[in-house]
Amino acid sequence: MQPFRLLSNFSSRWSRSGPAGKVILVALLVVLGLYIWQTISPLPDDPTAPPTLAAGDSTATPTRASATAVSNPMADSLQVHFIDVGQGDAILIVAPDGKTMLIDGGESNTGVVEYLRSVGVQQLDLMVATHPHADHIGGLVDVLEEIPVAEVVTNGQMHTSRTYERLLDGIAAAGAVYTEVKRGDRVQLGGLTFDVLHPTSGEDDDLNNSSVVLRLVYNQVAFLFTGDAEAQVEADILAAGQPVNATILKLGHHGSHTSSTAEFLAHVQPEVAVYSAEIGNSYGHPHAETLAALAKIGTQVYGTDVNGTVIVTSDGSTYTVDIARQGQPKAPSTETSQATAELQPA
Ligand SMILES: [Zn+2]
Repeated sequence: MQPFRLLSNFSSRWSRSGPAGKVILVALLVVLGLYIWQTISPLPDDPTAPPTLAAGDSTATPTRASATAVSNPMADSLQVHFIDVGQGDAILIVAPDGKTMLIDGGESNTGVVEYLRSVGVQQLDLMVATHPHADHIGGLVDVLEEIPVAEVVTNGQMHTSRTYERLLDGIAAAGAVYTEVKRGDRVQLGGLTFDVLHPTSGEDDDLNNSSVVLRLVYNQVAFLFTGDAEAQVEADILAAGQPVNATILKLGHHGSHTSSTAEFLAHVQPEVAVYSAEIGNSYGHPHAETLAALAKIGTQVYGTDVNGTVIVTSDGSTYTVDIARQGQPKAPSTETSQATAELQPA
């Protein structure tokens, strides 16, 4: 190693060097010490290191694996990850204080556990099941089996499916606190407060319309998470006078035309809207009507089918959007998908 050879050379000259030589030797020893210290303990938060997330650059095209968010330099910001899980919803929220929350988990075995691990999430403080359809709770069962979860929030809606039974079993096995919420309740994640806008009390035969709808206001940036709530719920929320204005809107029901009415969008006034869907899905999501309504009010739309995982990062006054892939969301054009869309309630 070069510095040690320098040291030995200079040490051997110590006895015969004058005062100036001693000063030089001491200076060299200090430099050597700094070199060794840097080598064995690199400075944390090196400002010259490239950020793992290309915050502020929505034109960047990082690979999905590059989204190592939890320990990234934006740690003081709120992060919302709309995870690409194919045809289903899965949203990871990392609070500025590091608390973690997962709203839905996609179908079983569609990658949510792997995604959480890839971004350094070792445990969840909060899990929300918006409603008991498999494209929302299937992956939650996987998560409960693999990662410690402190609390699970649901709408209290029963379902007879095997997946729903496994969710209840998973919650019990995880020893998680179980909470059912309704309109007027608040869900706390560290310093963040989510207002529950829906459901109201009582069960709904239409599971989509039993969805837990959450609104998060983070200083000047608000988020609205709608599950699969449809037009009827949107109208009910407006009629009840609930505030819905949001900078970022998670589009209801995968961008289906059954949600996101013009009236609702006029109240939300989203700058950005995100839907979760799979390329070539049999429901025809996102529907052309939804995209047209959003284009009309100038909302920027991202979809996990086209853009992969979409990550919104906010410091409370501004926000950035990072996407895994470039692309403009558009409605599938096949007639089959449009026809099938009316038959299935995904
Ligand atoms: Zn769904």
